[in-house]
Amino acid sequence: MVGLVDLISLVTPKVEKVTDRVFLARGFALGSSILVITPAGLVVVDTTENPEAARKILAEFRKKSDLPIRYLIYTHGHLDHIQGAGVFKEPGTEVIATRDWVKFVQQDRELLKDFIRRGRLNQAGRAAPEHDAVKLPMKSPFGWGGEPPEVVMPTITFDQEYKFELGGVRFEVFHTSGETPDHLMVWLPEECVLLSGDLYYHSFPNLSTPMLEPNRPVRGWVESLERMIALKPAYLVPSHSQAVYGEAEIREHLQNYSRAIRFVHDAAVAGINAGKSEDELVQEVKLPAELRELPYLRETYGRVDWSVRGIYRSYVAWYDGHGSGLNPLPAESWTRELVALAGGADKVLSRAIEAQEQDEHQLALQLCDLVIQANPQDQVAHLVKASSLDYLAVGSTNLNAFGFYRSAAALERQAAQ
Ligand SMILES: [Zn+2]
Repeated sequence: MVGLVDLISLVTPKVEKVTDRVFLARGFALGSSILVITPAGLVVVDTTENPEAARKILAEFRKKSDLPIRYLIYTHGHLDHIQGAGVFKEPGTEVIATRDWVKFVQQDRELLKDFIRRGRLNQAGRAAPEHDAVKLPMKSPFGWGGEPPEVVMPTITFDQEYKFELGGVRFEVFHTSGETPDHLMVWLPEECVLLSGDLYYHSFPNLSTPMLEPNRPVRGWVESLERMIALKPAYLVPSHSQAVYGEAEIREHLQNYSRAIRFVHDAAVAGINAGKSEDELVQEVKLPAELRELPYLRETYGRVDWSVRGIYRSYVAWYDGHGSGLNPLPAESWTRELVALAGGADKVLSRAIEAQEQDEHQLALQLCDLVIQANPQDQVAHLVKASSLDYLAVGSTNLNAFGFYRSAAALERQAAQ
């Protein structure tokens, strides 16, 4: 699972000096935190998901400077960037985010609260932890299992850009959608340092998550990368994974990132226009080899096939034009028919077990699903399915796939009880 280790920087937590005034704290939590020191006070960008990790980071930052924290900046509203804020905020600290941040976080906390909580637990592999069979390979400091802390709301919001100066250091903050619609980046023009949040990390980007946020701004992401390239940064400091140094190196990374996103988006759109189905495109669209082999485009966090599916669904509604999909039978009656035709649940399950023994776990899952949908009480089907899900979790090289499979396996074991 080298890819996973690389992405979530399972390194000894450390504070990396980027320049004399910019420090990157990573490895303390899933999200990183960045400190900018000025003669008139400090600016902290992103706060991690974990208040305990944030406390450790703050203690490290305090070894660099004891000046007050004058600004906190959220690059976006994802929990791994905002939940440590209460630790850093002092009386008088201004908190900066885009105006869209407020909408984004409100939707999370209000309209879709229960669904989003469930989706996040699924993605993190924590949907039913008491039924986990797959243990993490090492004690993980990542994720925050505790109660979500109170959200520290922004005190300064803006639409397009917000510029300020602190202790003679200029900060330019730009609304740049990508990972989320509310995303921003922070540019220090004199230092040529770009704090890019989640617009770039050491993996193929998560253009579409399987459960949450179905409409990520993929085209906005490409535009944001073009804006990043135009700034000609000499230091690129993301909020996950390592910093990138040197103008030429950064340009190459950002250009390839942008090319990869455009390639996947445009291939999906061309397929839609050509009348191809979602499943056909998922099989067909592959990154060109020269992009696929780049270490920072490996699919350890985002995945090309999931992105194609997500982009397809962001443009095409649910009916495929084949008639049967307009008013389909309820899954329970349709699968009961299929299971009976196959000679009963035992027949279907013995084929599932055979598939499992031949490492055809996806086939095993789908066969088990037929039986489970026809009869949700079938304990054997739940257990056979759980063990294929365990295999898939252990074999995953993608962080989110690992989490989803692990969660699904635990939920099947729970359902079998
Ligand atoms: Zn993040």
